[in-house]
Order: sequence, then C-alpha cells, then structure tokens
Amino acid sequence: MTSSTIAITRSASPLPDDQRETILDNPGFGKYFTDHMVQIKWTVDRGWHEAELVPYGPITMDPATNSIHYGQSIFEGLKAYRRVDGSIATFRPLENARRFQRSAARLAMPGLPEELFIEAIETLVTVDQEWVPDDIEKSLYLRPFMFSTEVGLGVRPANEYLFLLIASPAGAYFPGGVKPVDVWLSKEYVRAAPGGTGEAKCAGNYAASLLAQAQAIANQCDQVVWLDAIERYWIEEMGGMNLYFVHGSGDSARITTPPLTGSLLPGVTRESLLQVAQDLGYAVGQERINVDQWREGNASGDITEVFACGTAAVITPVGKVKSTDATWEVGAGQSGPVTLQLRDELLQIQHGSRPDPHGWMHQIVAPTA
Ligand SMILES: *Cc1c(COP(=O)(O)O)cnc(C)c1O
Repeated sequence: MTSSTIAITRSASPLPDDQRETILDNPGFGKYFTDHMVQIKWTVDRGWHEAELVPYGPITMDPATNSIHYGQSIFEGLKAYRRVDGSIATFRPLENARRFQRSAARLAMPGLPEELFIEAIETLVTVDQEWVPDDIEKSLYLRPFMFSTEVGLGVRPANEYLFLLIASPAGAYFPGGVKPVDVWLSKEYVRAAPGGTGEAKCAGNYAASLLAQAQAIANQCDQVVWLDAIERYWIEEMGGMNLYFVHGSGDSARITTPPLTGSLLPGVTRESLLQVAQDLGYAVGQERINVDQWREGNASGDITEVFACGTAAVITPVGKVKSTDATWEVGAGQSGPVTLQLRDELLQIQHGSRPDPHGWMHQIVAPTA
C-alpha cells in the first residue's frame, strides 16, 4: 500500500461540540473515545487490505476467535499534543511503529508497514483534531493494536488479523500536582523472564502483572516494581513504566536507568530521557542496580531521586519502597528537582514551547495563522 490508501467514512452523528468540550475539561484516562477509528485487515492471501477510517463503534467476534483463547494481541501507546502555535503533533511515532513490528514478530504476527502505521495516526488525528485538548497537562492518547481474528481453536499463528487505532483524550495524570508513588518490590511474581515476551508490548504481559499489582495495593503501595526472574534481585521496571535513578545532586547529578536486558520493555520515554538529560548537561548511564544497592544508596545519600517514566504518565516520582523485609524512603518522599526538571523539559518539547533539537515532533495539523 502507498500513501492515501485509507478510505474515509465520516460519522453521521459525531458528538456535539458542547458535549465534547465538557469531556475535554476533565477527560481522565481511557474513558472517552473520539468519533472515529481506523481499521486495517490482514489475511494470508491478501496481506494488508481494506484500510478505512470509520465511525467509532463495537466490533463483533465469533466466540472461537483465536486471539481470545491464545492471546495473539499486541498494542502501542503514543500521544498527540496541541502545541503553543496551534499545530498538532505526535512524539516519535516512528519509534512506536518499529516497536509494533518487533512485538508482532515476537508473537508470530504480520508486521504492519511503518508508513501505514503513521498514515493511520495522521488520518485519525486529522479527522478527530477537535478532540486534542489545549493544555500542557492534557493530550490525545492514541492506542494502535492488533489481534488475530481467525475463527478456530487450533494452536498456531493465525492466518487473519485486524489492526485498529482508537483515540482517547487524556487529562492531567496528577490533577493536584505531581505526587510521588509508593512502590512494592514483588519477590513472588515476575513480569518477564529471559526468552519470554517482556520486550514485546503484548496484552498477556499485562494480564500476568495484575495479581502482583493487587499485592502492591494490599501492601498500601500504588505500584509494583519488577525484579529479574532468576535472582529476584535486580531492578527492572515499575508497573508499565521504566525506572530512573538520580545519583548526587545539582550540576554534578548522574542519572541512570537499568539496561535493556531482554526482559525490560524498551520505552520511547526512557530512550528520550537519556538524551534530554544529556542535553541538560547531566551525566547519564545504563547501569544495573539491585535491591541492596537501591536501599543502601538511599541510606548513604548517593541516590537522591527515583522516578518512573512512560507515555501515559510522562514522569512519576517514587516516594517510598516496600518489600517483605524492608521499607525505605526516597528523597524524603518528595518530588525531586531533577525529576521535575526532566518532566517539565519533555512536556515543553512535546507542547512546542521548547526547541526540538532532535526532530522528535511529527506535525500532523499545521499551525493556526
Ligand atoms: C509501554 C511500556 C513502557 C513505557 O514505554 P513508553 O514507550 O515510554 O510509553 C514501559 N514498560 C512497560 C512494561 C510498558 O508496557
């Protein structure tokens, strides 16, 4: 397929302006969806075909649809931002397109060409542009996903798939200002093991994480922190976000994140922050850190701040760490200055109020005159 391959059928009954505005005032996360969606089919015989933008709505599935039983289902998450000049842009969509292909390959699914992934996003954001909120703490969250649609209970890669792209306005993650989360170190459950699907953004990884997250809540924590599967000792991620550690403070602060060992999800935000931190003059590194080093680092004052990062919540400070045998505070339970500086810098690049030296923003709707 080449450009302009997506046929457009507009909704006959888009949500009235006043109702949309009410939603955009307080959208929450993942609760409301825009007027349209993009769908593209894949079959063994025809490859990718019938790319269309259609009114948002339910899909019907046969009870024997393969993905419901065996989980061939992957997704992505990225955002469209309204910028200070009135234009609308997404952040590094090619990175998401590539990761979507890698996830597909890991689950033995067909890869959606990068151009088609980007074109789907451009088409939906253009048609539903009124849904992109105008506020630095708000955005339009885009959710591309793909699952097998073949009917039958045989266990093998399916010969039919559906790609869908939906969009949902996203509000301030911290309506009352950025607040640190308390985290639970899970020694009983793991998110990902070497050779498993930890690097892929697949639905099953999230299903497997829910029980550990429930344990975190039962231990008065907000989020679970994942340790490596073998030693249950090395820090990997927090929930669905990557982790960062700030060593020292001021201009001499050094910022590290665990290396991508194969069981971590390679976040676009993680990768971008390595660069942003460097651009701001900080030393950065990808270094392994274990549970004892984290606790001792906080006790000695070497580790001054810890934060998690991902598309949905941008940057979330960590305030307290709990496990079955220890509890300790990070940065006196407050949001640290480096954490807040990086958060602000990234948000300003995304919303167009700071220069974009690496060409990360992908403009979809031109600035207003
Ligand atoms: C999506 C995801 C992330 C963050 O990735 P971003 O590209 O930064 O949004 C981190 N960890 C897990 C497990 C994820 O699924």
